[in-house]
Amino acid sequence: MFESVPLAPADPILGLTDAFSADARSTKINLGVGVYKDEAGTTPILASVKRAEALLLESEKTKSYLGIQGLPEYGAHVQKLLFGADSAIIANNRARTAQAPGGTGALRIAADFAVSHLNRTKIWVSNPTWANHGAVFKAAGLEVAQYTYYNAETKDLDFDAMVESLKSAEAGDLVLFHGCCHNPTGIDPTSEQWKILADMSATQGWLPLFDFAYQGFAVGIEEDAQGLRTFLQNHDELLIASSFSKNFGLYNERTGAFTLVAKSSDVADSAFSQVKVGIRSMYSNPPAHGAKVVSTILGNDDLYTQWVAEVAEMRVRIHKMRGLFVATLADKGVEGDFSFIERQNGMFSFSGLTPDQVTKLREDYAVYIVGSGRISVAGMTLANMDALCTGIAGVLK
Ligand code: PMP
Repeated sequence: MFESVPLAPADPILGLTDAFSADARSTKINLGVGVYKDEAGTTPILASVKRAEALLLESEKTKSYLGIQGLPEYGAHVQKLLFGADSAIIANNRARTAQAPGGTGALRIAADFAVSHLNRTKIWVSNPTWANHGAVFKAAGLEVAQYTYYNAETKDLDFDAMVESLKSAEAGDLVLFHGCCHNPTGIDPTSEQWKILADMSATQGWLPLFDFAYQGFAVGIEEDAQGLRTFLQNHDELLIASSFSKNFGLYNERTGAFTLVAKSSDVADSAFSQVKVGIRSMYSNPPAHGAKVVSTILGNDDLYTQWVAEVAEMRVRIHKMRGLFVATLADKGVEGDFSFIERQNGMFSFSGLTPDQVTKLREDYAVYIVGSGRISVAGMTLANMDALCTGIAGVLK
């Protein structure tokens, strides 16, 4: 039977990492996958994470199963990050959180819940969006529609066109928003624009799904939740997929969370009971380690302060690299205004390079970026900047 199964194409992002690993050139640079690198070019374990792990090594007594929704205290910590510690949603017990295997797992839980229990059939995602969104939602049985987001000419959000295309999203449709640090463009709505979107969503009756994978990478932990919190002011019901892969550097520990907000505590209980049934049939219960680390840090004032400082350090380093990247391109004689790169948030920059230029960059200069032209700024360092900009200048000639 198996010989009739055709070979699948390589994953557009993870396939690139495989190609990078196989490249024998010592000068190669990987700016494909969204993984933070420090100045030394390594992806470090945060010091706060190491300290939490040391505490866990001492205190952990069992590896017995967690419940279906994961570690009990984890949900409370995640909700504080999302809504703010003094949020009425927390006081009124209107949210429920399930620990999830990464942000991807959380997105899949959200989509399965919407299809199986809310009879939803369609989700709207931005054009462009994270390369895996379409696959996750289609696998859950949703039709995926796109709303306009990016204007390649102005290198900015085309807000009027976004609003215009979202007029076609009907009552009950899911609409996906990136909580902050839009992937891949790095451009987020302003606070006024979030307000307009939230009003539009409430009026048209959408079910918003927030994908929150970079909290703390734009401006700060609290500030970055502004879009979500604006929506919560006029929405009784909403879904959130959190990822702690980037802001805790817990990539391979698969640490995420699915959160639902409901009208009341009772409604939240029934809805969440079905979410748990869904999880039970998918992976039964989540892995423990990453969530224990996150809970240890968020539940300890000292570790929390250290973590906030470490997130700031990552954010500031990436921002510095943006500035240096723009300056080095200018030094190399690359014409054009690249100042938009400094205005973008988060790990990525949407460079505007064409697929042919991306291929040439890989073949001639051993610089690996995603075919869409997305560059992971988080992978730039003082050491690789010159070679990177030489390559870009070369392909733009
Ligand atoms: N959503 C977005 C926008 C992302 O960029 C990512 C990670 N690249 C994810 C979700 C998935 O996160 P995780 O690795 O935790 O599954």
